[in-house]
Amino acid sequence: MLKIGLTGGIASGKSTVLDFFKKKNVPYIDADVVAREVVDLGTPGLAAIRELFGDTVILDDGRLNREALGSIVFHNEEKRLQLNSCLHGFIRQRIDELSTMYEEEEAPAVIYDIPLLIEGKWYERLDTVWLVYVSPEVQVHRLMERNGYSKEDALARIQSQMLLDEKRPFADVIINNDGTPDELYIQLEKLWHEKLLPLYNK
Ligand code: ATP
Repeated sequence: MLKIGLTGGIASGKSTVLDFFKKKNVPYIDADVVAREVVDLGTPGLAAIRELFGDTVILDDGRLNREALGSIVFHNEEKRLQLNSCLHGFIRQRIDELSTMYEEEEAPAVIYDIPLLIEGKWYERLDTVWLVYVSPEVQVHRLMERNGYSKEDALARIQSQMLLDEKRPFADVIINNDGTPDELYIQLEKLWHEKLLPLYNK
């Protein structure tokens, strides 16, 4: 089973790319969904957070109080790192379980949709990394358009993350999304035919 890590930067087009492969019925694992699942009511993940941060981060109904947790870690770097390393373990475990499930189903390929794929060194566990790249000018423009940000706000958001140019060296495949949706589509069809379809026809 080919494990493909799909990543990008804010507003680079990762969801648009993933939608293409969803339509081709390529299975995928969404790290954002997993990150929510592992702190659901009654999970060991939620218990670990309660242990670390106390009852103030738990709502009356027993669920996670994201706002309270957010304001604790926003003001405290050490706590933020503690939270991240605690969650990372649970997320990794759940992603491994889902991988095993797809392996047992003999899926030819799975896409790992992980926003912090490079930062979290997920590529060490995957076979190939596909980066949805846009140049800085296009990224600013798309972010302003999609979110209604000013240029300054868009730049600040982009600069608070690892830059796409810094991610490039980690990628095996660069999907360039500077052009039109049609130009993107042509690259994706090519990837589908060259990299994925042969695995399905084995
Ligand atoms: P985020 O991770 O920030 O949610 P993303 O990387 O998943 O973003 P998308 O939501 O796929 O990015 O795309 C960002 C915006 O750019 C969307 O509004 C999308 O419709 C638009 N977009 C994507 N690709 C193109 C393109 N080739 N031409 C014009 N607009 C595009």
